[in-house]
Amino acid sequence: MAFTLPQLPYAPEALEPYIDAATMGIHHGKHHQAYVDNLNKAIAGTEHENKSLEELVASAGSITPAVRNNGGGHWNHSFFWQILAPGGGEGPTGALADAINSTFGSLDGLKEKVNAAGTTRFGSGWAWLISKDGKLEVSSTPNQDNPLMDVAEVKGKPVLGIDVWEHAYYLKYQNRRPEYLGAIWNVINWKKVAENFAAAK
Ligand code: MN
Repeated sequence: MAFTLPQLPYAPEALEPYIDAATMGIHHGKHHQAYVDNLNKAIAGTEHENKSLEELVASAGSITPAVRNNGGGHWNHSFFWQILAPGGGEGPTGALADAINSTFGSLDGLKEKVNAAGTTRFGSGWAWLISKDGKLEVSSTPNQDNPLMDVAEVKGKPVLGIDVWEHAYYLKYQNRRPEYLGAIWNVINWKKVAENFAAAK
């Protein structure tokens, strides 16, 4: 069964002014769509045709680069749209807030770590907050890899992920990746992030 592009859970302009409508429209409608289309092409008529996206991602080290890159791209973006929300930025609560405070000292401590991971990721990739053996950790991956992949340097279950490809911010922020990383905390869907954290346990 062919993979399909999930709908954005909000309008493309809903994350303004932090993420602009043009970027969201192109990012979702063109970039994510291309990962879906190219993944479908790469698996058509192969042994991978009937595998789930999770299965493909977990075996990234033994599949073709096209399936790894586009499968990762589809998984990562589907995840990314969900952890963003208009009016986010109020911060985490409950068990997630407790875990963030005990691991990173404070929410600001977490932001610093994630932003550093995103800023120092050379070229294109992702910064992650993951749950690893029940503990929170910050990591980053190159290209469209993610922490669920068997090839990941740091493996874990994604709780929050930030796209640091230029296509995620260039129209509004140009080369200023740190500025984009500073702004995105205003549109984090902490309810969804808390669900990811609970599900990862
Ligand atoms: Mn992207």
